[in-house]
Amino acid sequence: MAKGKTKIIKKKDNVLIICGEDKGKKGKIIEIFPKKDRVLIEGINLLKKHMKPTQKSPQGGIIRQEGPIHISNIRLVCNKCNKPTITKQGMTKEGKKVRVCKKCGEIIDKV
Ligand SMILES: [Zn+2]
Repeated sequence: MAKGKTKIIKKKDNVLIICGEDKGKKGKIIEIFPKKDRVLIEGINLLKKHMKPTQKSPQGGIIRQEGPIHISNIRLVCNKCNKPTITKQGMTKEGKKVRVCKKCGEIIDKV
């Protein structure tokens, strides 16, 4: 299996969109699709989805739902310096592997 880039991203990470219609917006990762290298981000890349009429809403309707974004279109945002960043691997005192912000050195994973 190829190494997925999604490894550097985790659920609840704050990310910046660097490409497309939502360029410049920030959001939180709500779902990751490692095999496709795609993620869902809260409030980003909203797609209209037509709903069939149901008992609840006999008219049917249109809901807006997040669509997957390719991982190359986002950058992880550091919680401390609030800038898009690259992470390096670090280690806590307890020996746990964590992601560390290359810019400010803050541990991005909540331990
Ligand atoms: Zn930082």
